[in-house]
Amino acid sequence: MGKLERIRALKERKNAVILAHYYVDGAIQDVADFVGDSLELARRARSVDADIIVLCGVYFMAETAKILNPEKRVLIPYYRAGCLMADMAIVEEIEDFLRKNPDFSVVTYVNSSARVKAVSDICCTSANAVDVVNRVEGDRVLFVPDRNLGEFVLERTDKEVVLWSGYCPIHYKLTEKHLIELKNLYPEAVVAVHPECRKGVRDMADFVGSTSQIIRFVKGVRAGQVIVGTEKGVIHSLRKERPEIEFIPAYGEFICDQMKMITVDRLLNSLEMERFEVSVDEEISKRARKAIEKMLFI
Ligand code: 13P
Ligand code: SF4
Repeated sequence: MGKLERIRALKERKNAVILAHYYVDGAIQDVADFVGDSLELARRARSVDADIIVLCGVYFMAETAKILNPEKRVLIPYYRAGCLMADMAIVEEIEDFLRKNPDFSVVTYVNSSARVKAVSDICCTSANAVDVVNRVEGDRVLFVPDRNLGEFVLERTDKEVVLWSGYCPIHYKLTEKHLIELKNLYPEAVVAVHPECRKGVRDMADFVGSTSQIIRFVKGVRAGQVIVGTEKGVIHSLRKERPEIEFIPAYGEFICDQMKMITVDRLLNSLEMERFEVSVDEEISKRARKAIEKMLFI
């Protein structure tokens, strides 16, 4: 039996469900029960009917699934697959900011630790950040941790938004120069980028959105070529939707090494050995759940 068949068989036998993000390898996306962006993964995690959830993505995604399903076993195939941006928000610094600025609401991008979520008023993802900031209580918002997504929001709200200084090093590598070169090479191509990209890049794009929003946008696009300004893994799903379109990664190695730590071998091992199990401190989990559920309610 091949590895993928073994994964399917184990999944059945153990009543497990595999949730995968668009950035993981195509083979894992194909064997998963559900593939989505971080908002959809959080939503799906809440309604899962299985004994075990295997989250193929980075650690905060598995942690979010566990927070929403405290009674279920949540596994991540490799415990060291962590989001680089999530590590850029420090709880103590946020608490210090709030002591000095008690009238601010904290809106936290889900790319963050459970501890950071626990000191936040509400969470958001790249798909709903503008909506969340516009609907959170109060006119003053601290946006944590992504300064690029925060700036994207700032341009679309009348509220005062203070930006944390975190960023995604993978998306930040994409520069205006890369896009100008590609646009010269493919003058007819449409450009779709993730809001984690820097402002100059976002301003040059035809579309800015989360991974799922990019996929929905591409479904209806008329161009024969699309320049993709986010992690290459998403191209696997884009090709399924529109096989006739040529998809061009916005720079050569647009790869999140953390996501690529989730391999077929590790997924198989995870199901066989039932590891690595995610756990979250009960009190932190309770407070973080409140912030996530508020977002899901919106
Ligand atoms: P999405 O919210 O689009 O899934 O993005 C998550 C992410 O980590 C982007 O780098
Ligand atoms: Fe985190 Fe960036 Fe990887 Fe997304 S692409 S998971 S933000 S490090």
